[in-house]
Amino acid sequence: MNSPILQVRQLVRHFGPVRAVDDISFELFPGQSVGLIGANGAGKTTAMRMLTTLDVPDSGEIIIDGIDALKSPEKVRTLIGWMPDAISLPPMTTVRDYIDFFARAYGLVGDHRVSEVSRVLEFCHITDLQNRKVTKLSKGQEQRLSLARTLIGNPRLLILDEPAAGLDPKARVEFKQLVQTLLKEGKTLLISSHILSELSEMCDTMIFMNDGKIIRQGNREELARGEQEGTCIRLAVVGDNAGLTLHLQESERWKVQQVTPQSVTALFLSDDPQKLADELRELCAAFPICEFAHCTRALEDTFIDILNHAANDRTAPSAS
Ligand code: ATP
Repeated sequence: MNSPILQVRQLVRHFGPVRAVDDISFELFPGQSVGLIGANGAGKTTAMRMLTTLDVPDSGEIIIDGIDALKSPEKVRTLIGWMPDAISLPPMTTVRDYIDFFARAYGLVGDHRVSEVSRVLEFCHITDLQNRKVTKLSKGQEQRLSLARTLIGNPRLLILDEPAAGLDPKARVEFKQLVQTLLKEGKTLLISSHILSELSEMCDTMIFMNDGKIIRQGNREELARGEQEGTCIRLAVVGDNAGLTLHLQESERWKVQQVTPQSVTALFLSDDPQKLADELRELCAAFPICEFAHCTRALEDTFIDILNHAANDRTAPSAS
């Protein structure tokens, strides 16, 4: 297996009495796209600022590509691209000059700097806008400018804070496509967002934060399944579904979860695909079933469940 590009160990950051980041640990492997999810104030930005060497933890370790980021911040900076949730845009500066400024700051010179500026403008589809003032961009164009700035120097690890916030649906789709291209190029991404459905489309792994702590992390599909056992299936019949609903309610093999005029959603209480296939064949023989499909839970539901569990754990009386 590849070695991790990022290792975070027992990271802690206080602001006075607030434990903004409270003992978090995780690893990112090359090519992974990881979503950092949490409500307002969960600690996402504070964590990201430490990972990008903009802030220093009270304790803990950050290792990037084998280098200790706390001991050698200048060495790891070339490996990281940081896209903050907001950028300040100097008036009277054009798109090209803005990117060129950051390319200079990155230490690029001569033809290499010119070609690198052109490369990131092209990648983010803003070459046509290169002579426009940065203050005259739409929100979607501004986010692509911010991403272009992040990509200078071709960093391997990209840390994006709320990159899709404030974008309209079309701009979101365009942004998602850029993220997919970056993943195909082998970049590693850590993306924070409140828009969970969007993160689930861009990320294969999720980290849930609450009150500075990681309360759950794992593969997107496993998390979406949550605690539930069995397989969730949505069935639709031609005409009235009362007969099918009654049948499923009386069966020990099913647990009905939701009935609407259009469909019945039920949990088949086994993970064995052969048993499910046999059961569906029997149902199709007995009822005029016109559609059946696996239903995946929305990530929002999983997140709410996890938050409820965390709240219950806090309020439950201790064994002692
Ligand atoms: P949001 O989604 O709203 O941006 P977040 O998950 O990024 O939230 P942080 O911005 O990391 O959360 O904030 C975590 C906690 O730390 C909050 O309680 C916040 O008020 C506090 N905090 C963050 N930065 C500072 C600071 N510079 N001084 C004092 N408190 C801070």
